[in-house]
Amino acid sequence: MSKLIQAIRGMNDILPDETPKWQFVERQFRRLMAAYGYAEIRFPLVEKTELFKRSIGEVTDIVEKEMYTFTDRNGDSLSLRPEGTAACVRACLQHGLLHHPSRRLWYLGPMFRHERPQKGRYRQFYQLGVETFGFSGPDIDAEMIMMTVRLWKQLGIADSVTLELNSLGSTESRRIYRDILVTYLNQHREQLDADSLHRLQSNPLRILDSKNPEMQALIEAAPKLNAHLDEASREHFAKLCDLLDAAGITYQLNSRLVRGLDYYSRTVFEWVTDKLGAQGTVCAGGRLDALVEQLGGRATPAMGFAIGLERLVSLIDEAQLAVHDTAPQVYLLALGEMAETRAMELAEQCRDALPDLRLLLNAGGGSMKSQMKKADRSGARFALILAEDELARNEITIKDLRGDMQQQVVSQSDLTTFLKSE
Ligand code: ATP
Ligand code: MG
Repeated sequence: MSKLIQAIRGMNDILPDETPKWQFVERQFRRLMAAYGYAEIRFPLVEKTELFKRSIGEVTDIVEKEMYTFTDRNGDSLSLRPEGTAACVRACLQHGLLHHPSRRLWYLGPMFRHERPQKGRYRQFYQLGVETFGFSGPDIDAEMIMMTVRLWKQLGIADSVTLELNSLGSTESRRIYRDILVTYLNQHREQLDADSLHRLQSNPLRILDSKNPEMQALIEAAPKLNAHLDEASREHFAKLCDLLDAAGITYQLNSRLVRGLDYYSRTVFEWVTDKLGAQGTVCAGGRLDALVEQLGGRATPAMGFAIGLERLVSLIDEAQLAVHDTAPQVYLLALGEMAETRAMELAEQCRDALPDLRLLLNAGGGSMKSQMKKADRSGARFALILAEDELARNEITIKDLRGDMQQQVVSQSDLTTFLKSE
């Protein structure tokens, strides 16, 4: 026997046992998006590498070490998308969606990052993403955060997550702060680890995000970003906090929350949980006011967030799913070749009459006993039996596999009426 081929490390199969949970989350998310008037956009899995370099930033973790980049047969450098925002903006610009900007969009799909696989961190993972364009005020920031709160409620996980909030200020005030921070860190160079020394040149704000315990004191004592906000950003943030307070949403101000990517400004937020170990960020986002222009469009305010689906799914309690049962309701058995042909016909008639009916037709023949066993294992409530006797009299036997209804025989023409009433 030849050796079995395995999936690529960090790229998961989602098996039939698990997909109902995913479908539940996706269904709730779609419902939420419709309720808030957001429209879906789909874009390719592969883009020109340059797109990600120009938007995410050359010196971010993603572009420096996590992208799946390859040269295609034409010699072009392409990358599997590591996130959705850049491609979303690219698509909007390419198709003129931002000519009248006031867009509310969402997307859902796999992203690819060459990270070290571990629980909650994979090389192919799924994101639910939301982006808005053309809204500059804190009202849209509040709307998007309120939307996530509603999603947690719909999913029954509101008690498992907390909101962390910060403002990065304008690009300009961030540049000023960056210099102040670099000066401070340079004064304490000997305390920086190798990673931070590297980031000191390229992305010093990200040092604030370091998880290294030996650097925590240094980071705690660092000059605070929110002490250096420009006036307009300060007002924006204060208004956002007012709106969240008015909506009864609690949050933690976290001045160390900087996000890793170049394109953020002003509002940034994360939803975190302590139930998933080290990979506790379930949702992350913020304002990207400079991004559209950076990608060649007209300056357009933007705000977005992305939810990691694997992490979200692992927070969902199985009990939530009971209402969305996917097991078949009816299992149709057929004994003998003629009965099989008729059963197929009957099954189609039932599906015509009851489009939402979940009917499993026995395939591959088998004895009465083996077919009954399959019916039982399928989880169906009723077994419908079509053997020679029934065939001859145009009838069908109905057996209740779970409840205590007496076995009964009905005419085939009454079958859909029976199923409807059940
Ligand atoms: P982290 O700090 O965990 O690396 P990030 O800042 O790189 O996160 P984002 O780019 O903001 O993450 O992505 C948004 C969300 O997508 C994250 O909060 C997380 O839930 C999810 N996510 C990111 N990378 C991965 C991954 N490799 N595997 C699974 N989920 C991920
Ligand atoms: Mg990351």
